[in-house]
Amino acid sequence: MNNADIIALGEKYVMNTYARFPIALVRGEGMSVWDADGKEYLDFLAGIAVCNLGHCHPKVSSAVAAQAKTLFHVSNLYHTEPQVRLAKWLCDHTFADKVFFCNSGAEANEGAIKLARKICHDRGEEGRKTIISATMSFHGRTLATLTATGQEKVKKGFAPLPAGFIHIAYDDLDALQKAVDVNTAAIILEPIQGEGGIRMPSPGYLQAVRKLADERGALLIFDEVQTGAGRTGAFLACEHEGVTPDIATMAKGLGGGAPIGAVLATEEAAKSFTPGTHATTFGGNPLCAAAALAAMEAMEEENIIGNCREMGKHLLGKLEKIAESSPRAKNARGRGLLIGLELEGGISPATIVSAMMAKGFLIGSAGESVLRFAPPLIVTKDQIDLLADALSSALDSL
Ligand SMILES: *Cc1c(COP(=O)(O)O)cnc(C)c1O
Repeated sequence: MNNADIIALGEKYVMNTYARFPIALVRGEGMSVWDADGKEYLDFLAGIAVCNLGHCHPKVSSAVAAQAKTLFHVSNLYHTEPQVRLAKWLCDHTFADKVFFCNSGAEANEGAIKLARKICHDRGEEGRKTIISATMSFHGRTLATLTATGQEKVKKGFAPLPAGFIHIAYDDLDALQKAVDVNTAAIILEPIQGEGGIRMPSPGYLQAVRKLADERGALLIFDEVQTGAGRTGAFLACEHEGVTPDIATMAKGLGGGAPIGAVLATEEAAKSFTPGTHATTFGGNPLCAAAALAAMEAMEEENIIGNCREMGKHLLGKLEKIAESSPRAKNARGRGLLIGLELEGGISPATIVSAMMAKGFLIGSAGESVLRFAPPLIVTKDQIDLLADALSSALDSL
């Protein structure tokens, strides 16, 4: 099937929930993907911050193939080795003492919200039910997580929404101080807002949030679905700020491309999840857990986070130069390889994304006016230089 065949079939049989670009991808290796007409692209979006080790990393692909021939799925009625080893890996490398596995970022946040409310319930603090989140945040598309999400566009048409969610401005400590009270179960924040436009908090904000949560008896949840798994140059982005939450959620980069999510928690917080309180059929199944374990081990063995830090600086530097020299861009920002470039003059990000696609580069957008760069963490200097040249010329030729 070529691009046109695949697109025609999709338009007929797949629900129309995505504004897709008009290519169908059939193969990937490292930084490259190929479409069904044979065109190659350098992938600077990595499946939306998912393929952190590049496409079809040999260690991940081999682990998946081996696991697929050994044991695919057995449910969570039984213990499995890939799941317990992955849980240990995550606890060894983060603040967490215990992990719950699920299948996506939204599900991880659902789990975190449920855990926070259950903890308050178990403490006898029945009044503490409210979840405080930030405007411009993104936490997922299930009913509870779209309610937590601080963007009206995802909520339209889906009322009634669950009760017990309030929003405050991101990076505004005063607003948070006014909002956190005896009814607060938890504060949920992205350490860097991803979908909202790669928005970074001021230095010290997350630390102050931690302090406030402790003083007022609220739990702190970090949504690390996009920022986690090495994306920002630390395993979890909160490490940069020296802050640990009670609960953190992961998904995107965790599985090396396989669908898996995780709720990470301290021993104390995790205690409230007991048999029967939360569950999922597929969560942490042997296939996805084996993929994630191989991805995490490869990331460590190959010092991929080190490369992320180094290449992140290089890419940010290149984009800062473009922001200085082009009248159509300003304010490059981000950490590690989660980087945004704001467009000026009402240019729609999709215009640039399409122009870059024609030149053989996949990039993304975030918010209304921001280009998003989230390449595999294995990206090289030469590839970044190629991207920067192509982007300069795409902006110039507008
Ligand atoms: C992508 C994302 C989610 C939702 O993850 P899904 O796997 O699409 O459900 C939640 N939070 C953040 C910060 C995200 O970037």
